[in-house]
Amino acid sequence: MSRDKQETFTSTCCYCGVGCGVEVKIESKGTVSVKGDQDHPVNRGMLCSKGLNLQYTVNDKSDRLLYPQMRYNKNMPLQRTSWDAALDRTVAVFKTFIEKYGPNSVAFYASGQCLTEEYYVINKLIKGFIGSNNMDTNSRLCMSSAVTAYKMTLGEDSVPICYDDIEIADCFLVTGANPAWCHPILWRRVEAHKSTNPHIKIIVVDPRVTDSCSLADLHLQINPGTDIVLNYAIGRVLIENNQIDNDFIHDHTEGFEVYTQRVFEKSVSEAAIICGVHEESIRLAAEYIGNAKGFLSLWTMGLNQSAIGVNKNLSLINLNLITGKIGKPGSGPFSLTGQPNAMGGREVGGLANLLPAHRDLSNEEHRKEVQKFWGGTTISGETGFTATEMFEALHDGRLKAIWILCTNPMTSLPNARFAEEALKKAKFVVVQEITDKAQTLPYADVILPAAAWAEKEGTMTNSERRISHLHKIIDPPGEALPDAEIICRFAKKMGYKGFDYSHPSDIYKEHCKLSAKTNTNVDGLDYALIDSSKTVQWPFQKRKRIGTARLFTDHVFYTPSKKAIIHSPVDVLTSELPDSEFPFILTTGRIRDQWHTMSKTGKVSKLKQHIKETFLEIHSVDAERLHITDDQIVCVQSRRGKVQVKTRITDSIKPGVVFLPMHWGKALGSDLHRTNNLTSSYIDPLSKEPDFKYCAVHIEPF
Ligand code: SF4
Repeated sequence: MSRDKQETFTSTCCYCGVGCGVEVKIESKGTVSVKGDQDHPVNRGMLCSKGLNLQYTVNDKSDRLLYPQMRYNKNMPLQRTSWDAALDRTVAVFKTFIEKYGPNSVAFYASGQCLTEEYYVINKLIKGFIGSNNMDTNSRLCMSSAVTAYKMTLGEDSVPICYDDIEIADCFLVTGANPAWCHPILWRRVEAHKSTNPHIKIIVVDPRVTDSCSLADLHLQINPGTDIVLNYAIGRVLIENNQIDNDFIHDHTEGFEVYTQRVFEKSVSEAAIICGVHEESIRLAAEYIGNAKGFLSLWTMGLNQSAIGVNKNLSLINLNLITGKIGKPGSGPFSLTGQPNAMGGREVGGLANLLPAHRDLSNEEHRKEVQKFWGGTTISGETGFTATEMFEALHDGRLKAIWILCTNPMTSLPNARFAEEALKKAKFVVVQEITDKAQTLPYADVILPAAAWAEKEGTMTNSERRISHLHKIIDPPGEALPDAEIICRFAKKMGYKGFDYSHPSDIYKEHCKLSAKTNTNVDGLDYALIDSSKTVQWPFQKRKRIGTARLFTDHVFYTPSKKAIIHSPVDVLTSELPDSEFPFILTTGRIRDQWHTMSKTGKVSKLKQHIKETFLEIHSVDAERLHITDDQIVCVQSRRGKVQVKTRITDSIKPGVVFLPMHWGKALGSDLHRTNNLTSSYIDPLSKEPDFKYCAVHIEPF
């Protein structure tokens, strides 16, 4: 049936990395309604509050950018223009900078919300034709520590589990994550599993008592930043109790001897003091893990968003390796992706250090393969600017032009006032956006209106490597265009061959072909095949025409030795530590009904009912000492900036630690609700992921 006549379409929720299937119906007035897809393997008809309210974000066009805008200098107002004029100007400016300052003077900053096809063409354009690797995304702020750790241990950025392992596992270690709020549908599957199998054990590790703790058999309320110490202590108890898999360690891993030395450097009681938990709790956690037949470790930003994010990840993955709980039903490390298509982006090489199909930019053979396939310019071996590096380079003038699409860095980047200064200094800014609320718009020289979810076609990959095909359901408003089409129009105007796609499916087929013979192989896959089986998990088995649910079932890993590598980094925290001037540790995170910078969920009045405004969570002991009452406006200050917010006094956070939600940005010209005024520029040295979960702040009544 043609799209015009068809009334109901399947798609995938565009918020978190769970990847729930939805049915979207076009109603008689041309609006859409959304409900959970009963036949979808991920959510089986369920949706969380955000997914249930998706239609409001689609139906409300009041904030949409409708036509291209442009100005010739920053003092002029932006004025409506044509697509041709906007892109011709952008081409002229990019060509001038590239000629004068070289290809590394321009950059693209994209998003984990981009469709795979969009990532692919941006990546091809800048790396394969412009000749720079300055393409990074906000996934750098999200999963890059997990990516690096997977590569170091398993030889590949590959989540080994599938969601169906949830119903098989009998022990869950949930650490640095609050899936009850941030990955709700997965958590409902865990809840249902626990409800029918009360014997299964759930351990939650978090400095705060979150909703996820209500399901926990054990909550380890650790001091922020002590995750490695805790994971090593658990590892030590597992070794002491001989609850490790010696055969698996011997046959399929490397590095266990060094690991043993490392974890025995501290006694369990010393570790307990550092972590701020009872020694018995560490021993009990180890007992639960050691007794489990199926052990899943679940984590997200509490581990990733850290100056020691990679090391935290390594110390956790080690627990699956030493117990041999990987590549088996109900077992494995299970990173919960924050964004809907961070995985798809990495599959096509959408980061400053990657090439398509997880090829390595530093590998000459990989560069040659891709270069030959694309037929463009020489691909540079020099890693491009990562997310925060781009803004540093704008600030000091190394980067002249930036093209920002599908992301709102003025709210989401750490040390946001610095990022704002950097964008002010940029010589040329292109903003490709759906909403007129994006806080990048005041800095734009060119604004390109983009199509939103349901208005364009493409694919996404969720946290379990599951690829889904998203249909175009309605037309975009005004002159807005799909992101991939905008990039291809620009590329063609630059004079580059290879961007003349007639449909997004052509881009997808090209990506699939380029993935052949790699670990992420989807060669032979296309939209029709995905539709026929609803979703497909990579790697795709072309001959059998099926995906792969679970990786490493043969215990052969993607490392050169085919063994998993147990790394034993030091447990030293390198974050900005509190001192007498800034005595509190600030940690940040999500709330249940908002998503990222609220550009979509902030439009839905129902989603504002849960928590209407930002707040500072502070322990009652600290509040009393500072003579602060509940609901009182306080000033929170760090070395970089300040915010003014109301307090929420609680006993569910560690004394000495305060929490702010990440979502709020500038409003009515004031940035005093923007949490990232406070966060630091510290990044993990390997993953380049920022340290959103730990910085030093001072608090005083306003
Ligand atoms: Fe959407 Fe995530 Fe909620 Fe599923 S759990 S409905 S993917 S926000």
